Amino acid sequence: MASLQPFYNFLKNLKYDGNLMPVLFIGHGSPMNGIEDNNFSKSWATLGNTIPKPKAVIVISAHWLTKGTHVTAMNQPKTIHDFGGFPQELFNVQYPAPGNPEIALETQKLITSTQVGLDHEWGLDHGTWTVVRHMYPKADIPVLQLSIDYHKPAEYHYNLATQLAELRKKGVLVIGSGNMVHNLREIAWNKMNEDFGYDWALEMNTIFKEKIVEGDYKALLDYQSLNKAALLAIPSPDHYFPMIYTLGLRNSKDQVTFFNDYFVGGSLTMTSFIYNN
Ligand code: ZN
Repeated sequence: MASLQPFYNFLKNLKYDGNLMPVLFIGHGSPMNGIEDNNFSKSWATLGNTIPKPKAVIVISAHWLTKGTHVTAMNQPKTIHDFGGFPQELFNVQYPAPGNPEIALETQKLITSTQVGLDHEWGLDHGTWTVVRHMYPKADIPVLQLSIDYHKPAEYHYNLATQLAELRKKGVLVIGSGNMVHNLREIAWNKMNEDFGYDWALEMNTIFKEKIVEGDYKALLDYQSLNKAALLAIPSPDHYFPMIYTLGLRNSKDQVTFFNDYFVGGSLTMTSFIYNN
């Protein structure tokens, strides 16, 4: 894997508008990134050390799919180990970040297109904690999750995200956590540790980045007719929709920077980006 040094240098030199938090889309990949010290987890730690310290973090994780839209509203969200077949060490991880019921309520009020439910059952699933524990290892920043209404199309999610813009001004860091190209059925298990991507995955990774840079969200929302490779890249939209939330939070002055632009097992991209101005 290529060096992360250019990305580190970029982050260290970034100037932030003190009144507006950046927005992130993170390709989270394997749950093992939650305990491994690798270039992905290192990049998340670097992000945590360099972007302005948030008042709270709200994650839209690919792993919380619901009917209706819900926001976690408990004081102490539990760590959810929503996977199987991984080492005990991963199941032993606890990430005891507090919640923040006030911000949950604020989030509920900001969204007027639907009635957002206040959730007291969920917690932090691995789409959230495997990333955020590297960013904020002291678990001293409140972490919330906003669910993905899996009965709704991409436009719904984009529209909902635009209503969250105010959170950026209030020091809340919003993270979409998924993977833009995510086809587990096509994974080349013998090529997990190299930056190998199938042709269709390479093609879609390039198209996604182009459309994001151009701000052509219409094309990204209508992903099924984007390209025939899109059906292989997004066999189901669970890991793609978190990216749509990030798009919806873009401010007109934001610039976009990509990082972790790598493939895992041929059919999964870790490609991530940050919006900041
Ligand atoms: Zn996932």
